[in-house]
Amino acid sequence: MRVAVVGAGVIGVSSAFAVKSVFPSYDVKIFADAFSPDTTGDGSAGLWTPFLLDDTPAEDITIHNVVIGGTHQEGDFDRSVREKDSKHIYDGCCRIMPSLKGSEIIRAWVGLRPGRPRVRLECESLSSSMGKEFKVIHNYGHGGSGVTLCWGCAMDVVEMIKNLKVPELNSKL
Ligand SMILES: Cc1cc2nc3c(=O)[nH]c(=O)nc-3n(C[C@H](O)[C@H](O)[C@H](O)COP(=O)(O)OP(=O)(O)OC[C@H]3O[C@@H](n4cnc5c(N)ncnc54)[C@H](O)[C@@H]3O)c2cc1C
Repeated sequence: MRVAVVGAGVIGVSSAFAVKSVFPSYDVKIFADAFSPDTTGDGSAGLWTPFLLDDTPAEDITIHNVVIGGTHQEGDFDRSVREKDSKHIYDGCCRIMPSLKGSEIIRAWVGLRPGRPRVRLECESLSSSMGKEFKVIHNYGHGGSGVTLCWGCAMDVVEMIKNLKVPELNSKL
């Protein structure tokens, strides 16, 4: 069986890893326009583990540094760092934790949390222009919870593949 995974963020990579772990003989390939460390998955994982962000200088990673806040703006796909938002986050955190006042800002980072009312996790049958049937498993729309949900969704993807009634494409018979 050949499996093409589109996307190399936390969802794509965990799905590919789960499929390859359960079906070692399957040919699993990941297609994406950006790979680690340039995905949103890397960035949000970096909130807990800043050393994963390769442009954070090693000397800046100490117990005296902290990641503070973010924003939630629906329909906003701008990935540039906006001074207004940075100030909003910083001022809000300083209000809650006054000891942050006067601290140095080391780095600002922007990622997206594309979401939908529910995660789309389902299998669809499609046909190529040549009339050949293939399956698409949708696994997207995790919003602000993709890191949390990735393994459970990856295991659901595996279950869907187990339930596919397709002949092995690499059969030699
Ligand atoms: C500031 C911030 C904080 C977060 N905190 C948390 C948290 O605490 N807990 C949590 O669970 N989640 C958190 N998230 C959400 C989590 O990061 C996302 O849900 C997760 O990254 C989504 O994973 P993904 O693989 O779908 O997308 P991404 O990691 O964005 O990966 C998408 C992949 O698809 C590829 N791609 C996109 N379009 C195309 C295309 N047209 N053709 C080819 N390839 C394409 C990209 O190149 C990339 O490889 C946070 C997000 C942000 C921004």
